[in-house]
Amino acid sequence: MAAYVAGLNEKPFRAKQLMQWIHQRGVSDINEMSDLAKSFRATLQDKVEVLSLPVIKDEHATDGTRKWLLDVGAGNAVESVFIPEDDRGTLCISSQAGCAVNCRFCSTGRQGFSRNLTAGEIIGQLWFAEHLLRNDPNAIRRIEAYPTPGWEHTGRVISNVVMMGMGEPLLNYDNVVTALRLMLDDKAYGLSRRRVTVSTSGVVPMIDRLAQDCPVALAVSLHAPNDQLRDQLVPLNLKYPLRELLAACERYLPFAPRDFLTFEYCMLDGVNDSDVQAKELVRLLANIKCKINLIPFNPFPESGLKRSSAQRIHAFFGILLDAGMVATVRKTRGDDIAAACGQLAGDVVDRTRVRERAVHSNQIQLDQDVDAKADADALDADDEEQEQESGYQSERSVQWLKKLDD
Ligand code: SAH
Ligand code: SF4
Repeated sequence: MAAYVAGLNEKPFRAKQLMQWIHQRGVSDINEMSDLAKSFRATLQDKVEVLSLPVIKDEHATDGTRKWLLDVGAGNAVESVFIPEDDRGTLCISSQAGCAVNCRFCSTGRQGFSRNLTAGEIIGQLWFAEHLLRNDPNAIRRIEAYPTPGWEHTGRVISNVVMMGMGEPLLNYDNVVTALRLMLDDKAYGLSRRRVTVSTSGVVPMIDRLAQDCPVALAVSLHAPNDQLRDQLVPLNLKYPLRELLAACERYLPFAPRDFLTFEYCMLDGVNDSDVQAKELVRLLANIKCKINLIPFNPFPESGLKRSSAQRIHAFFGILLDAGMVATVRKTRGDDIAAACGQLAGDVVDRTRVRERAVHSNQIQLDQDVDAKADADALDADDEEQEQESGYQSERSVQWLKKLDD
């Protein structure tokens, strides 16, 4: 914005004024921006438009969750989800049209990848939802003073943002960081770093860059306690295996807004939810300050997978707690409008040929197995027995997943 106004020969403070009008106050009509000089308004009117993405669909779930399908052009559409709770309003934002990571259990991933969203398309989801909901008498509001003195709004609606919609945010790094900075800026949305979360499937080099550039809360999608199973569930693990991923997490911790990270673990019936796998997860994360968030799998057509039973989730959760881990089970919200985690599908013109890549990743799998065996040999004797037991279970899951694919 500063560069843009400089290009129009205007003073830098004009950029701040524009930021406030657009992001903080949600004003899109240049004429309403009353503290801008008339001549500057006239220039802007010729050159810019403040627009939200066209809304294709607006759905309300029975629990108050709301989902929008937003048109990003050329046959692609992305989804944003608002989740109201008693003490917060959370917006779940998309970062890409589709996703190239292709996780086994994620409907976005199964659709393939089209393109990165621009910084404008990312922050535009927050702009649109915040200002729409602020004018909605039924939206839950937090009564909170606005950061700018003299601004008389009673409160904002969105207090938390999670980059957990469609796409892998750290594979669209620059645009995501630009949008994150706007979320945190007092002249824009003024959100706390603790209340802005980037969720990643584990793009190791970008975790390190995020620590330097914009250290917000980090959630890492783990989903498996060993490389063998994670290779199958999250194919990015072939590139950045667990040892590298966890090392990056430890490096991030000193920069994190709280003194822990979150690991997400999607509970898949008979795949990653056994007692021995819970124990292996405890050993894997024993030395890292973290919270484990168990997400009951949200089914979507043709996934071939099932959600773990409530009893199984409870047992798995109990093992984590007994071992002294901090864990929670995520409440499923908005599943009657397919707005729950992993159900966001939008419309994606796939440019990545998902099936071909699946064959390719099985190829890489063979090499990785050899490495995994070498790792296992290095474990000490006590752990080895349980590790093997969990390994056998994971092996069975892997075979079963492969059959399902065939
Ligand atoms: N690409 C990022 C963020 C988007 S996905 C990532 O993978 O972290 C947000 C979360 O939803 C991730 O933890 C993801 O693993 C999880 N998820 C994906 N599909 C799911 C499904 N069908 N059921 C439950 N959680 C799912
Ligand atoms: Fe992409 Fe995340 Fe879905 Fe995996 S879980 S396919 S990384 S959006």
